[in-house]
This record gives sequence, structure tokens and C-alpha cells, in this order.
Amino acid sequence: MNDEALLRYSRHIMLEEIDIVGQERLLASRMLIIGAGGLGSPAALYLAGAGIGCLCIADDDVVELSNLQRQIAHSEASLGQPKAKSAAAAAGSLNSTCKIRPLEIRLVGDALLAEVEAADVVLDCTDRFSSRFAVNRACVDTRTPLVSGAAIRFSGQLAVFDPRQLASPCYACLYGERGDDDSLTCAESGVISPLVGMIGSFQALEAMKLVSGAGQPHRGLSTFDALLGEWRHFALPRDPGCKVCGGR
Ligand SMILES: [Zn+2]
Repeated sequence: MNDEALLRYSRHIMLEEIDIVGQERLLASRMLIIGAGGLGSPAALYLAGAGIGCLCIADDDVVELSNLQRQIAHSEASLGQPKAKSAAAAAGSLNSTCKIRPLEIRLVGDALLAEVEAADVVLDCTDRFSSRFAVNRACVDTRTPLVSGAAIRFSGQLAVFDPRQLASPCYACLYGERGDDDSLTCAESGVISPLVGMIGSFQALEAMKLVSGAGQPHRGLSTFDALLGEWRHFALPRDPGCKVCGGR
């Protein structure tokens, strides 16, 4: 790191759990954010600011007026633009030394597998069950850690799945594989805006812990009830009969 980088990341370097070694790991890391909406927006901004070496942001959607209530990486000036491009521009304006790759496509099949395999950590910031299952399967197949977040109405949830660990469950251990049940999305159900910021920020935090080695990764499933302001934590054992990770 040069003097400018030492100054830029000084508040990380002051933390003994991060220090110069942890910051260098962040600078050398590559992360994939799938979905540049409510969760992906704060995640992209924090990760760019934190100095992630290469940040890939995938989204095939365009910015609409109803997104601006919560998707803070976008602005009125980016209405009609691809979300991946808009989020990449916002993140890039925070940190020009961070390499940011917008992917203006829906990642599926071999393209999804290749991007997941190239990443050190994947952040699932989508709001469709079908995408979540495909991302989970790609992470299990390539043994790539997955930080999963979700927010709908007043409920948020967070889980970290690390297929490199033998005891770690996967997303399908939790939900089975319910195919393409996309009935619960923010578009149809609504969501309170700061909740997506909280969960997306948590995802960025867990991704940074995984890469830097600070602390220990989040375990189990955490849910947040925004109406009560309460977190709940659940143990999440691996399902030996899971169709995705069971035979691993
Ligand atoms: Zn599983």
C-alpha cells in the first residue's frame, strides 16, 4: 500500500482484527454481487469504499422510479439506465482504485458458474427464489462462500453458507428446492426502505470478515423483525439429505 492507501484505509488498519494484513487481503479480493437493488446498493457502496480489489455487480434490470425509495446506489439521473451500470458508477465514484465490473445480464448457467468460481465471496442480493437456488447451487459446486440476505415488508434475514466447511449447510438445506416460486418479491409485497440497507450492510460486513479473516463468520439464520426492532437467531444444521449439498 502506498501512503494514499494507508490514509484511505486507516480506520480499518487501526482495528487490530483487520490491520495491514487484513486490508491487503481485502485489496486483493474479488467479490460478486448478484442483484443491484435494495440489498446490492449498500453492499456495493460499502465494499467499494472498503477497497475490495475487484467488484462484479450483476443485474439485468433498469432503474425505475419506484426503486429510488430504497435502492440508494441509483439516482434520478440514472432512471432508465441498467442497474449494474448505475451501481458501478456510484461505487466507482467512492473509490476509483477499486476495479468495478458491471454485468448487465441475468447470470445463469455456465456464465453464473464461471463468475461464482472466479469470486472469493458471493453476495446474493436478488429477490427471486429461482435465482437464489441457482446461485446457491453454483456456490456449492464451486465451493465458494455465499452471503445470503433477504428483506420483505418488515422482515429481514441473513445467513452465511461456506461450502469449504464440511459442517456448513447450504441455502437448499434451509428451504429445499422449491423451483421457481417467485411469489414473494418486494415488487408485489412492499418493503420498508431502511431494512434493505441494514441487511445489505450486514452482507457487506460478513463478506469482509470472510476475506479479511476478522472474527468468525455469522452462524445459523438470523431474522430481524423491523416492527418490533428484534433479532432472532436460529441454529441451521446441514441436511444430510439435501439435494444440493447432501452428496458433497
Ligand atoms: Zn444443502
